[in-house]
Order: sequence, then structure tokens, then C-alpha cells
Amino acid sequence: MIPITVFEGKTIALFGLGGSGLATAHALRAGGAEVIAWDDNADSLARARDAGIETRDLREADWSGLAALVLSPGVPLTHPEPHWTVRLARDAGVEIVGDIELFCRERRVTAPGAPFVAITGTNGKSTTTALVAHVLAQAGRDVQVGGNIGTAILSLAPPDAGRVHVIEMSSFQIDLTPGLDPSVGVLMNITPDHLDRHGTMEQYAAIKERLIRGAGLAVVGIDDAPSRAIADRRGTDLVRVHVPHGDVLCADALTVRDGIVREPDGTALADVNGIGSLRGAHNWQNAAVAVAVARALGLPLDAIQAGLSSFPGLPHRMEEVGRRGPVLFVNDSKATNADSTEKALTAFRDIHWILGGKPKDGGIFPLVPYFERVAHAYLIGAASDAFAATLEGAVPYTRCETLDVAVPKAAENAAASGAPEPVVLLSPACASYDQFPNFEIRGDKFRELVRALP
Ligand code: ADP
Repeated sequence: MIPITVFEGKTIALFGLGGSGLATAHALRAGGAEVIAWDDNADSLARARDAGIETRDLREADWSGLAALVLSPGVPLTHPEPHWTVRLARDAGVEIVGDIELFCRERRVTAPGAPFVAITGTNGKSTTTALVAHVLAQAGRDVQVGGNIGTAILSLAPPDAGRVHVIEMSSFQIDLTPGLDPSVGVLMNITPDHLDRHGTMEQYAAIKERLIRGAGLAVVGIDDAPSRAIADRRGTDLVRVHVPHGDVLCADALTVRDGIVREPDGTALADVNGIGSLRGAHNWQNAAVAVAVARALGLPLDAIQAGLSSFPGLPHRMEEVGRRGPVLFVNDSKATNADSTEKALTAFRDIHWILGGKPKDGGIFPLVPYFERVAHAYLIGAASDAFAATLEGAVPYTRCETLDVAVPKAAENAAASGAPEPVVLLSPACASYDQFPNFEIRGDKFRELVRALP
């Protein structure tokens, strides 16, 4: 835990008592602050009380005596409209921050030289955060990893000159961190997402830009226009990362072509080819960012390559879950839309594709160009009729209804296909909610069914 001493003797309001809220309450109290906490959810309130945290309805609090409101990142600060605690805090002139802001303030006071890597972007945040942490840990560094990826930042070990914090940040978290000052700030990419919570694309991009504005070194992927503009505004202490899809746009970037990460002068730095957990051009961007961050933190190239090569990958993102003879089984349950599934379809051939669930707007029409890579499709869930109509005449398909029918059928067909390395791929291009509580449980079920195959 990281005791937060910068509010010692003060009273702090806390709204949102999920995992990070509880950790924040403990961290503030350990540092000598008084915390009054609230949540709209009765179970969360009960859990907080059981943990010894004082709870009080913040509608009835005397806001003039409060030093700050700490808000959970899931609670709306601006869009679609400010939460009632936000209005009360603003009316009383009380500042509103998140747990990562508390970390930043504590770090500035107690360990200003402690290495702190903050990572954001629309896509690839978790993979890159895990990859950077893995590369550093493999090289023997003391690494703490958390933030949006899972573990609340304030439940990690405290910042220290000999310890690296690698923190994934969503735009909601950046919005709540006005003093964000990582030693290395990473912005991967910006594409339209969460606009319901950020208003316009311009506002969304402006929030992302804040992560690198206060960074000692900025690492920016320049493969989309908003990120490129942000890199150009930054100018100095900047590493650009470029994965060209056609022409090279930028001569002074770390560039990845054919899986080789190169300096602007062409010197090869790392080779991503043959690393199962880093298949696909989207992972080249993730790998190049990891190379840039690891070099900035002083790792030699051979240690960086060893770290990339041994990266186990994250569950549910093109995760290799087993082989039966020549057949490879891949769990890409995190692919809940066509955009994500596109990444998997471009990474493999001879695909036995399990798809379906609760469909999204546009269905699988954007995936038609990749249908030639698919040997057979296996439909599950509510999207079956709609997806069958798109596949009709282009890809042979079987209606399976459920995963436990689809997996053995796909395995059998793949084994009989005679292809050198057929792939049974769960990449649903759909939300899971029609049949599973979430994508993790869907992916776990797939893994279990693969393990149960003869
Ligand atoms: P996030 O944490 O930002 O949601 P993840 O690392 O969990 O991202 O990856 C989620 C999905 O996003 C992956 O399954 C893949 O389809 C896609 N993805 C991963 N990295 C990138 C990238 N650098 N650019 C674009 N898409 C990516």
C-alpha cells in the first residue's frame, strides 16, 4: 500500500467504493487523513463499513470542511452530465481528483526521481502495459504494475528510485489527474471511443494529450491523425513510433516493418517475428513502444529482445490456449467488435472461426475482405441469423448455437482439413451478454472446452 501523507490532518470525501475506492480510503487513512466515503450501491457501502471505513451520505456532508473529493474513474465528471457529487464539490470550491493524482503528489514529495511509466491510448493499453512490465521484470528490475489494467495504484508498493511503476490509464483516469507527471508518458493511438463520456473527438484527444504534456519523455504512436498532431505539438523529448501501412510518413520515428523494430537510421533494435503472443501489426506497435520505454529506462537491447520473446501475452487477446496435432487453438474473446476481430483474422490463415453473441452495429460487414482466410465459420448466440446472411455464398458455416457445440465441431473439421497449421479461433466480434456474464467467462469456457478435447 502507498500511504498518502499529503492530506495528513485533512478530511477527504470519497465517492465510489469499488476496488480502487477501498484502496484509496486505506491509503489516505494510513497517511493521516480522515475519509468520509459514499457509494450509490448498498453492497459496496456494506463492504466498506466491514473494512472499517466511515461512510456517510455526501449529500448531507459539510463541504466547506472538505479538502478534496476523490472520485472513482467510472463516475461521470463531465458527460453525459456531471455526477451530483461533482456539482456539490464545484459549488463548494472543493477540488476533484482521482487515485492516480494522489500517487503523483505523494511521489513528488517522497520520491521525485522514482521511475513512473504511464500508458494510454484507445487500443493496446493493457497489452503494452503488461509487455513493458514483463520486459523490465525479466531484466531484473523491481516493477509494480497497475491502474486501469487491474490492481489499484494505491495498493502497490510505494514509489522509490529503485522501483518502476508501470501504470495503465484510461481517459477517465487522466481526466482526474491534473498533476500527471510521469517520467515516461506513452500515447499509443486515438480512435473514436467513449465519446458518450467525453463529448467530442477533440475533447477526447485533448484528454489523451494531457498524459504526455507533463511527461519527462513522451512516446507517441503516430499512425492516426490526432496522435500525429499531438506528437508534432510536443516537439522535444519525444520518441515517435510508426507502423507504416503503406508509405513511411515519418523519417524520424522508430519504425516497424516486417516485424523488425528499427531506428530512424535503419539500425535494427528488435525482432518480433515468431513471437506467438505478439502476432499482427497492431502488436508491432505495442512491441515498438515497449522497446522505446525499456531503452529510456536503460535496458540493453539483448535484455529487451529476451523480454519480448518470453512475453506470455494477456488472456483473451489472441491467446494460444493449446495445440492438437497441427491445429492451433486461439482465444480472442476480448474481440467484442469487428475492429478487434479484424486484427485476429489478418494474423492467421486456414481459420476455423467461432463467432457470434450479442451483435454490434455494422455486424461483420467490415470483415468481408478477410473472408478468404476463413475455411469455415461456426455461429453461436443471438447474432447467428444476421451473420449467416453476411457469410452466405462466401464462407461455409455451421449454426452451433453454443460454444460447447462449436469447439468440438471446429476442432474436428480443422484436424481433417489437411492444412499445415489450421487455427480454431474464438474471435466473436460480439459482446458476450446473450450467453455469458462477460468476455472473460466466455474465454475461460473456450479454454476449458479445448482442454477437454480428446
Ligand atoms: P485496451 O487495454 O486498450 O483495451 P488491449 O491490450 O486489451 O487494449 O487489447 C484489446 C484489443 O485491441 C486486442 O484484442 C486487439 O484486437 C486490439 N489491439 C491491441 N493492441 C492494439 C494496437 N496497438 N492498435 C490497435 N488495436 C490494438
